[in-house]
Amino acid sequence: MAAVIAAAVVRARILQVSSRVNSTRYPSSSFSSSSVSTVKLFINGKFVESGSDKWIDIHNPATNEVIGRVPQTTKAEMDAAIASCKHTFPAWADTSVLSRQQVLLRYQQLIKENLKEIAKLITLEQGKTLADAEGDVFRGLQVVEHACSVTSLLLGETMPSITKDMDIYSYRLPLGVCAGIAPFNFPAMIPLWMFPMAMVCGNTFLMKPSERVPGATMLLAKLFQDSGAPDGTLNIIHGQHEAVNYICDHPDIKAISFVGSNQAGEYIFERGSRHGKRVQANMGAKNHGVVMPDANKENTLNQLVGAAFGAAGQRCMALSTAILVGEAKKWLPELVERAKNLRVNAGDQPGADLGPLITPQAKERVCNLIDSGTREGASILLDGRKIKVKGYENGNFVGPTIISNVKPNMTCYKEEIFGPVLVVLETDTLDEAIKIVNDNPYGNGTAIFTTNGATARKYSHLVDVGQVGVNVPIPVPLPMFSFTGSRASFRGDTNFYGKQVTLSLKKIFSLRNFLNIFRSKDSAKKALPAASVRSYVVQQCCQ
Ligand code: NAD
Repeated sequence: MAAVIAAAVVRARILQVSSRVNSTRYPSSSFSSSSVSTVKLFINGKFVESGSDKWIDIHNPATNEVIGRVPQTTKAEMDAAIASCKHTFPAWADTSVLSRQQVLLRYQQLIKENLKEIAKLITLEQGKTLADAEGDVFRGLQVVEHACSVTSLLLGETMPSITKDMDIYSYRLPLGVCAGIAPFNFPAMIPLWMFPMAMVCGNTFLMKPSERVPGATMLLAKLFQDSGAPDGTLNIIHGQHEAVNYICDHPDIKAISFVGSNQAGEYIFERGSRHGKRVQANMGAKNHGVVMPDANKENTLNQLVGAAFGAAGQRCMALSTAILVGEAKKWLPELVERAKNLRVNAGDQPGADLGPLITPQAKERVCNLIDSGTREGASILLDGRKIKVKGYENGNFVGPTIISNVKPNMTCYKEEIFGPVLVVLETDTLDEAIKIVNDNPYGNGTAIFTTNGATARKYSHLVDVGQVGVNVPIPVPLPMFSFTGSRASFRGDTNFYGKQVTLSLKKIFSLRNFLNIFRSKDSAKKALPAASVRSYVVQQCCQ
């Protein structure tokens, strides 16, 4: 009860966009307080209470207490939100690019000033540690800062005299009303991947945040309004399938940006495309870290532990699979020792390295996948299923778990686990490792750990994965490059931000991102083949 009250106080203070309602109006079996705050809609510049009779509870994942409620937006409310986006579009598209840029410049400043408050809200609703939550906001902020370069990004192309007395001009023009559908795992970063870029280009935007973590989006909307975004340029609705279907079907929506699971993403891509929309869907992942025996052991083990278990593994770029090549398999006991040292606790507790999973269902699913490893012949070297966190006994905690002797046909390898679980495979050669990575249906991110430039180049160029890190465990590119994906991790032909400026460009690229760090101390220890390093750099420039 105390946690419920504390949570409600935090929400009310931070949001200023929610109101108190009586429990009798929205009865629920899991309702544990006489009243909780409700999340409002944002329609035509106003934060309004929904008239819906269908509400979804929001829980604190560290306690499972109800901390708020989010409405399933009614059809009439969704109509009003779209009408607002549509009505505002011509004036916003006509607003000078310099004025739109000014809004974004003010916005990045307001996000900086409120970064810690947004992070607190993320930790409360999503469960990740405060440090991870601040990173969540920070990575989104970088996209907003990138959006401030719109004056360069929107430059068109010209060519004089394409025939007698004729020149050609090519402009990048906004599409109209665009929509975003976001997942729970990055409550600030992913909405900030979506609406700032689209809007600075002159589109208006309908946002549907994850129903599990809507708070950060609401606060970001308030800050956007305070930055000078005109009423109606950004509208926010809430809900699940009905809201999603509405977005996919509505003729006034020209483009959809989706991030989330494959189940939802494939469906939204198919349904939205069928209605003639441009749809971009970034989806699930099974990211492999290939560890070569010549890697810097100390850095590699530290990076593997951080990338596998950080944010409780609920990152689309979590390094959830390690492939130990040759002698690198001897490092496994040390990997286990390091993972044991991680502190599992509520995200707002000092010293917490990882927090809880989002829901009890997510915890059950993760535990079932660990069980499947035992049943199918793998070995559990570190088992986080039974962890108890003092003071948070009802939370959805799973401790770091390492499963070894995993084979590609096992369920724990085939499924995206989305929890603090590292599955470990072993191979004798790099070629075998590359085959495993490319045979896996997902292609979101991967990393190779090596001090050999030729090995790094070979791996980077032969794996069919969107983001490739060399000694970089979570290779998320900065926003001047695009974030992409390959195979089952991605549908569509445009990417977030970067040169492609998702919702306003017409170009199609086949894109992959390579990030690498070679440490100087590694090169001193073991000389790199200079010729292959040079050719690697040249290749990158040609991408
Ligand atoms: P999710 O698919 O359950 O939810 C995402 C959004 O889709 C939510 O707004 C939700 O309301 C809606 N939705 C959910 N199920 C739906 C359905 N059946 N039909 C229509 N709409 C539906 O995803 P999640 O659990 O919130 O997020 C975790 C997933 O997101 C993981 O698979 C993760 O890998 C993926 N993810 C991918 C990236 C990337 O860039 N590739 C980034 C972050 C997360």
